Amino acid sequence: MAQYHLRLAHLYGNLLNTYGDEGNILALKYYAQQMGAEIEVQLISIEEDFHADDFDLALFGGGQDYEQLVVSKDLPHKAAELKKFIEADKPLLAICGGYQLLGQYYVDANGQKIPGAGALDHYTLTQSQQRTDSANATRFIGDITIKNKETGQLYHGFENHNGRTFLGPKERPLGIVQEGHGNNGEDQTEGAIYKHTYCSYFHGPILTRNGELAKRMLLQALELKYPTADFSQQKALKIAPTF
Ligand code: GLN
Repeated sequence: MAQYHLRLAHLYGNLLNTYGDEGNILALKYYAQQMGAEIEVQLISIEEDFHADDFDLALFGGGQDYEQLVVSKDLPHKAAELKKFIEADKPLLAICGGYQLLGQYYVDANGQKIPGAGALDHYTLTQSQQRTDSANATRFIGDITIKNKETGQLYHGFENHNGRTFLGPKERPLGIVQEGHGNNGEDQTEGAIYKHTYCSYFHGPILTRNGELAKRMLLQALELKYPTADFSQQKALKIAPTF
């Protein structure tokens, strides 16, 4: 029996799961086990209640425009609890479509403006709605490497998106692009960080290739849930090098 128990909400996991992002859950479970923790996963989909207090971690994956539209219609029912979860400093990972839907809005390839949860400041356009015509007029697909400012860590992944995301004043990028396109192909940013919410366009999935990020999320969840426990051993956990 594991010493610590964490509950993870897989938001819309049966709709936004196109790019193998469930691998992020496997990575979290793998590293959690090495930290003496087990993770119980619960799928929360449309027409199901999400209560921030019931969970210690959350994953909001990526998907195609049609599924994003379906999810966006359900978001108003969950937006308040999503904001509560984020503002409570609980770790959340949002990938691609999930990243876009946490923001203010997403304008899809047909020019349809899809409202987001409004939990974060960013907004997303597609290439035809771009503010400038300087960026590549194609989908952003390919290998990407970014550098996270706080830790100096390099994160590696594979991006595949049509949306161009622009960060708001309260967000900072997950990293600065070293190779690849990133949020919008213009400002060298990739992804977003707000409190302990991490957003990215990385598939791969991001946590299997960048275990340090999984460790950061798990430590935060453990410290919040078990404030008197000593996690120095967990902090010292060596993560396999990324590739
Ligand atoms: N439909 C969105 C886009 O292409 C999100 C894609 C994704 O989740 N990979 O920008």
